[in-house]
Amino acid sequence: MRRFRRSAALLLAFLSVAFVALPAVAQKEPIEIVANLTDAPRKLYHTEIDLPVTPGPLTLTTPQWIPGHHMPSGPANDITGVVFTANGQTLPWRRDDVDLYEFHLTIPQGVTRLHAHLDCIVTSRVSQKLAAFEWEDLLLYPAHTPVRDIPIQPSIKVPAGWGIGTAMTPASSGSYPVPAVGATTRFAVTNVEQLEDSPVITGQYFHEFALAPEIAPKHYIDVVADDPEDANLRPQILADFSNLVREASALYDSHHYHVYHFLLTLSDVAGGQGLEHGQSSDNGVGEKGYADEAHTLREADLLPHEFTHSWNGKYRRPAGLYQPDFATPQQGALLWVYEGMTQYLGEVLSARSGLETQAEYRDKLADTAANLDYTPGRLWRSTEDTAVAASILRGGNPAWYNWRRGQDYYMEGELLWLDADTLIRKMTGNKKSLDDFEKIFLGKGENTGPMIVPYTFDELVDDLNAVVPYDWATFLHDRIYKINPHADMAGIEQGGYKLVYTDKPNAADRLMAAAGPGRRGGGVNCWYSIGLRLGMDGSIFDVRWNGPADKAQLAPGEKVLAIDGRIFSPDVLREAIRSAKGGSEPIRLIVQADTFVYTREIDYHDGERFPALERVNGAPDYLDDITTPLSKHEAPAAAEKKAE
Ligand SMILES: [Zn+2]
Repeated sequence: MRRFRRSAALLLAFLSVAFVALPAVAQKEPIEIVANLTDAPRKLYHTEIDLPVTPGPLTLTTPQWIPGHHMPSGPANDITGVVFTANGQTLPWRRDDVDLYEFHLTIPQGVTRLHAHLDCIVTSRVSQKLAAFEWEDLLLYPAHTPVRDIPIQPSIKVPAGWGIGTAMTPASSGSYPVPAVGATTRFAVTNVEQLEDSPVITGQYFHEFALAPEIAPKHYIDVVADDPEDANLRPQILADFSNLVREASALYDSHHYHVYHFLLTLSDVAGGQGLEHGQSSDNGVGEKGYADEAHTLREADLLPHEFTHSWNGKYRRPAGLYQPDFATPQQGALLWVYEGMTQYLGEVLSARSGLETQAEYRDKLADTAANLDYTPGRLWRSTEDTAVAASILRGGNPAWYNWRRGQDYYMEGELLWLDADTLIRKMTGNKKSLDDFEKIFLGKGENTGPMIVPYTFDELVDDLNAVVPYDWATFLHDRIYKINPHADMAGIEQGGYKLVYTDKPNAADRLMAAAGPGRRGGGVNCWYSIGLRLGMDGSIFDVRWNGPADKAQLAPGEKVLAIDGRIFSPDVLREAIRSAKGGSEPIRLIVQADTFVYTREIDYHDGERFPALERVNGAPDYLDDITTPLSKHEAPAAAEKKAE
């Protein structure tokens, strides 16, 4: 998954799960589930479920720990209208007192099929024109049973005329025509584990494009958008996505899916998303997310990241993050591999595919390294601790984020695996690289259908040693488990560059800012000077712990009203920082805090500071070797495109 701040409401209480031996439920016949999305524009899903049962006590459950979310985010609170019937009679139910996801019933004598109806109130990933549907919103199945052992026959109904995109296998041969009014699309029998891993997008404006047709198995991108023009992706971006398929095939030299579908929503309403699955990925960006260079750069690593997860996260998964049900808590200690290595490989593949240039890759890397180096929370907690605590760090309050640390295992992992990659290149004279490790660790030298092969820290070390012998256990331990006051800059330096600060934002930041507010652009970034991140209206998002603004007593949530006698604007603030350079007069602010107003004085005189990478002449240029395409695709054309 991509880094997202999720609603604090999703941070459900950590529940202890009591495993009680219950009568085994006969599962010879599949559960039948019909997901009805025809009310999607009204933010409601409905479902009818028929379950094979035997008389006696029965416990059914909805999923709690959703793979890829790294937290207990199952939508139990949004499930409503639950009614159980059998032989025409309504059956009473009672929620479990401890595990609030569970329903207890008693099945009467003579009953072999139980019918359940439930609705789900949908809070994201829907608009008037499209929906991205994950099956956990409507799933109900026997508790305390491995989900891979529960067969299920899925069907779906969508609004009339809406197209369907999914990696699921149709019940009969053929693809997914636009369904007629009231039509139900049936899929082949699968199991609950695989069904949860098989999202569906649907929308009025739907396009499906084949990617890199020369590569087997087949790859597609399915697009739904709020605007028909956006759904018809421009040729250059489709060429880049085809290159992504070629580059991933060359890098991993394997696949672990029968078919792969990138599912993409383009909507300002349906929200951002990046969720990995074995044979597909659920990707959500803004309506104009890939409409031009500036927007594309901001989203460049999304599809490469989620695609990489098919290998790193889905096929190979830390043993602690794989549970046979969706009720046992997942353990995130190795998320610096699951997400951190994916973050690194996603950025590398983005550059190799032409979604970003080598220079843009370096600019974004400079931002990452500087941001981590200026995260004072690293003085008290290790990177491993951010992974162990992932489920409570996801979402929540952004205030003092830099002192608490967030899900730093993503970006720390990017620097770590760059360090490992350049170290392997250095030790082998650039004959070997992390690419060789990925073929061993993620490929296992075989092509398979979707499956999960868990791993431990020791296997990671063994596979690194198979590429080049080194004390990899200590290497990883020092960087991830220890407190490190500074970010790991070794990869950048071994790669032939150094991190510097200049008085102008780097080219990639300037381009992304042109796309307006968003994940990487927008707002006012004075983090490396006075230590503030602000909105365009002066609202303070965060204050750098022990930085100049912190020493001046500013706090997140306050709002800057005026600077040096002038009403706040981003330009006025930046001009004030420049004017104070080399002088002795403080920068004077008027700040609103709740219903009060204060004056504050920031004693700072070093001018504006923005991160960039500077080439070290004479050093091997491994950084640019790393971002050079492996396959013989249209790299020159991609370079020309960027030069326009
Ligand atoms: Zn991820």
